[in-house]
Amino acid sequence: MDDILPKPIELDALRTVLERWLPQASPRTSGHSKPIPQNKGNSAILDTDYLARVIGYADHKQKRELVDLFTSTARADLPVCRQHLTERNPQALAQIMHKLKSSAHMVGALSFAHLAENLEDAAKTNQLAAVQRLLTELNYALGDVETAASQLMTAGAALARPIDTSIDLLPDCVLIVDDDLVARRQITLLLSSLGVIEVLSVDSGEAALIELDRANGSIDLLISDLKMPGMDGIEFMRHLADSNYQGCIIIASGVEEQLLQTAAEMVRAKGMNLRGTLKKPMARDALLQLLSLPRAKTNITTPRQQRNNPAITPDDIREGIRSNAFEMFFQPKVDAMTLSVVGMEALARWQHNGNWVSPDVFITIAEQHNLIALLSEVLITKALVGGARLAAAGYPLSIAVNLSAIWLSDLRLPEFILASVNATGFSAEKLILEITETGVMADMATALDVMTRLRLKGFKLSIDDFGTGYSSMEQLQRIPFSELKLDRSFVQGAIEKSAARSILASTVDMAKKMGLSTVAEGVEIEAELDLVRGLGCDLVQGWFIAKAMPLEQLLVWLQGRGT
Ligand code: C2E
Ligand code: CA
Ligand code: CA
Repeated sequence: MDDILPKPIELDALRTVLERWLPQASPRTSGHSKPIPQNKGNSAILDTDYLARVIGYADHKQKRELVDLFTSTARADLPVCRQHLTERNPQALAQIMHKLKSSAHMVGALSFAHLAENLEDAAKTNQLAAVQRLLTELNYALGDVETAASQLMTAGAALARPIDTSIDLLPDCVLIVDDDLVARRQITLLLSSLGVIEVLSVDSGEAALIELDRANGSIDLLISDLKMPGMDGIEFMRHLADSNYQGCIIIASGVEEQLLQTAAEMVRAKGMNLRGTLKKPMARDALLQLLSLPRAKTNITTPRQQRNNPAITPDDIREGIRSNAFEMFFQPKVDAMTLSVVGMEALARWQHNGNWVSPDVFITIAEQHNLIALLSEVLITKALVGGARLAAAGYPLSIAVNLSAIWLSDLRLPEFILASVNATGFSAEKLILEITETGVMADMATALDVMTRLRLKGFKLSIDDFGTGYSSMEQLQRIPFSELKLDRSFVQGAIEKSAARSILASTVDMAKKMGLSTVAEGVEIEAELDLVRGLGCDLVQGWFIAKAMPLEQLLVWLQGRGT
């Protein structure tokens, strides 16, 4: 409690109290939709203790530098905002306010931050008169910050911060991607204080991709904002996944928690090494905590390419095909309720120079070097031979194979598969072709042609990794899928995170309405099985049931279950 007022409240008494506690509630700052926070003295104009808490230590020179950076950026942004208002472009103005809000918050310019927030809201909801009024108020508020900044102490010894030894895996080189100059500088200072030797920063996703290319693998950690003009953070992550970036990622943003979590799910689902998310302004302790996490814990799905994987060349793959080194393993798919086995997914395996190479790696390389048709033909034949042997042994189970999206642009694909099915004696209606949603997009016209003909030949189509791609709904309407596989990042995230759980529930719901059967992938523990059962999933696949195994081992496993 800050004060008392006797009832009935008299206007003069109220004004006196308000002026004492809220100096900015003077006529020029009339307040707007959201109340400006209580303000003791001048601290809401520039709360430098707040700034010190954020950077984690107080070095006067650095504090002053950050505040000056903020005021000069804001000074330069204000005329641009007025221009946007004149041109009736409130969305562009909202974007600038979003950025200014977060950098003001970071340096402790709390009143300014609240005004900027109100302005962002007003601009988003197209209240142009309010925008105009608030812009004037913001201009005054900036003047107040500048005055307060000029009184800041710049002298005094810089407090040397002991370098943290608690982090054994301190990154050598970090790249910060943020359109806000003040945020870039703050995070740079933070990382330097932790002992990171090289900190690079860029203002956009486009620039980051160029920098990553130039750095050629030397960047260990990438800290990226989500909301940026031009290429946004999500789009940037998508390009990053395609570029085979090997380092860790931290998403840092001022957006709401729910959105941050959804972005995180997406990045994990792409198989990238996400260390975690941080809300801006980034606090030293929160960053430290993320950097200290053991690697394995932060990585839910298999990374696209293991770091220490020796480089695989296209010639290695050619040689592997020639020497018959590629194998097919089979992972059971079971009925969610009865746990009886209904089919298998065939998964490619390859041991090269004594090391297992992840299929994510060799499939990608084969795709990039025009070897995917050759490799897939070998793999599919092996899968069908396996399926026929299982049927002959008394297990007429369905076999699912993964089709590379690149191969879908080969118009001869349906004929090849039909010929292999006929040659091996496997029945067509028991073959399921799994297609990854993201890949479906590439060459839509040809892919549609191929998929429709595959369907006409009696094969079933399954949409794989559902939920990790983009226009999923649209594809579901256009392509005659009969099965939907829920990506394991959602299944595994669903126990703890409500966002993943609701994605899962609504997907199962939609699949049911469309008459698709659903498969939950990556079920590793009983709690996950219970959860997907509860949601009404039809089939389950995952280590809780069994890992992928060679055919001989699978036959023993099936006999043991008495299925
Ligand atoms: P996918 O189609 O999503 O395959 C499922 C992946 O999840 C497999 O990884 C499988 O081993 C793994 N998995 C299954 N159950 C669990 C579980 O409970 N926990 C966890 N953490 N993982 C589980 P894998 O074998 O590394 O394959 C990775 C991807 O490589 C596959 O993802 C598929 O996209 C691709 N791939 C594999 N074999 C082939 C193939 O023959 N042809 C093509 N084109 N792609 C293939
Ligand atoms: Ca699959
Ligand atoms: Ca999958």
